[in-house]
Amino acid sequence: NTAMDCCRTSLRLGARTVRVIARKPRGFFKASPWELEDAEEENVEILVNRSPKAFMIENGRLAGMRFECMEYELDARGRIVAERVVGEQFLPADDVILAIGQENAFPWIERDIGIEFDKWNVPVVDAKTFQSTRPGVFFGGDAAFGPKNIIWAVEHGHQAAISIHRHCQGEPLTERLSPGVNLQSRKMGMHEWAYANDYAPIERRLMPHVSLKERFKKLNIEVELGFSAEQAAAEAQRCLNCDVQTVFSAKLCIECDACIDICPVDCLTITNNGPEAELRARLKAPAQNLAQPLYVSAALPQTGRVMVKDEDLCVHCGLCAERCPTAAWDMQKSLLHWPHAEDEARALEQRKPKIA
Ligand code: SF4
Ligand code: SF4
Repeated sequence: NTAMDCCRTSLRLGARTVRVIARKPRGFFKASPWELEDAEEENVEILVNRSPKAFMIENGRLAGMRFECMEYELDARGRIVAERVVGEQFLPADDVILAIGQENAFPWIERDIGIEFDKWNVPVVDAKTFQSTRPGVFFGGDAAFGPKNIIWAVEHGHQAAISIHRHCQGEPLTERLSPGVNLQSRKMGMHEWAYANDYAPIERRLMPHVSLKERFKKLNIEVELGFSAEQAAAEAQRCLNCDVQTVFSAKLCIECDACIDICPVDCLTITNNGPEAELRARLKAPAQNLAQPLYVSAALPQTGRVMVKDEDLCVHCGLCAERCPTAAWDMQKSLLHWPHAEDEARALEQRKPKIA
């Protein structure tokens, strides 16, 4: 993606022709497809299967580059199994920007202070505590585990902060609070649905862009205009609220069949238990997707039969919970709690002996 930024910025700085020359086919690019499309929209030409061979200099100035034209053979999984050079090509250029990635460099860390480095010359870091081989020295982000994205860097920061706090308190770093889930009942009745739950199979909306003519007028024009309030609201409605789930309590069920009747997709069945293959075949709607496990409840108090739910069909409409007279079906929202340093600090504080 940075390569596409460089190309598009070059155009804004006055370049007349900008080309991306890639060694491998497009399927091997690291750039996101929409970044490539946006660059191509601005007439950035992308040439694939050209391996750089030499800078060509004429009269002391760069004249262009010579490339080997490559051909690749891919296996069934899309991996390159053979490559051959099928020709050479010279491409003229005034400037060349190399896209060769980045690597960590730690020349400023003395090698005799107890921090070990691996064969890639990056510090050896514990994947749970983020501590290096020298106690009290922590690493995170790309410096610790190589290229990832900023979301991982933030998470590493949180985890390292927990370790640093525990280290400062003289507590073991590996004994940390574990993540937890909090379930809250949530009524999702017909007249008060928290979301429009219709699955909309429409394509992701295209982000409106400033016109090609306008965007080059100034260097700092933001190309992506963002969604309008209406478009943003429509996109947000596509959320399927996967955090809100049906939860069943077998002991509350009186087998009135109301949930079976109301379920719009026939994914509930009350029946005798049996071997899975046979059970799947005699559900109200036979469950044919073997990759999706069935929900099978404990024996129901009235008859000993079981409530079976095919999660593959459920659209989370909440109607079963709305209709159930005993709250045997309930819609519950799950909140995932991921501990941060402040939670560790609070937990450690609570464990300290209190002086009256
Ligand atoms: S939430 Fe699922 S199981 Fe309940 S009625 Fe809706 S589709 Fe059926
Ligand atoms: S509506 Fe409630 S009580 Fe009736 S069968 Fe369904 S879960 Fe059981």
